[in-house]
Amino acid sequence: MKNYKFSVYKKMTLTLVMLFLFLSYNSNAQVTYLKTQNQKSPSGGNWVYKVYSAPSKSEALTFLKNTEVKEQGLYYVVETPNGNYAKDCIMIYAEATGGLIELGTRKHLTTPKKIEDHCAICGYYIFKAGAWPSIDIPNVDVQYSTNLETMREKGEGFICPSCGALCCAFCATLVGTDVKCPLCGKTMKIYQEK
Ligand SMILES: [Zn+2]
Ligand SMILES: [Zn+2]
Repeated sequence: MKNYKFSVYKKMTLTLVMLFLFLSYNSNAQVTYLKTQNQKSPSGGNWVYKVYSAPSKSEALTFLKNTEVKEQGLYYVVETPNGNYAKDCIMIYAEATGGLIELGTRKHLTTPKKIEDHCAICGYYIFKAGAWPSIDIPNVDVQYSTNLETMREKGEGFICPSCGALCCAFCATLVGTDVKCPLCGKTMKIYQEK
């Protein structure tokens, strides 16, 4: 009797493992690669579109969530019968409207390191924020506050004046009103145009 039970469990486990393998194989197979397109950007840069096809929005979004896009000018586009969905180095969005679907999550590098134009923690490209507008009103003290959520939607981040490392608004944590450098611990500034 004991042996019988054991073999039933073994069979069940095996069936579940096979079902899992089948399902995971199947969900990958539902997104297929179509082509890569290159386009010149108005500023003379290069835009690269990696185009895929999926049977539905949910498969497209699962695929995009699992795809890391760290470089500026690189786009993953998934065509579905109900519209196209895309991901750039900031967010997943509906291609037709550019409407934000989600910002996604960023995996951390195994070891934080200084990378030009990229976050030291996740390795994603960081866009420079615009310069502060110059407001010069006598006797008025103008203060700017840091809103990480707004900065994330623009792909912005911080720079360390001491060691030069960058940190994106996803990886940054506010300590009071400060963001500390992940490499040297000094207080960072917003990475922006002069
Ligand atoms: Zn980051
Ligand atoms: Zn630093």
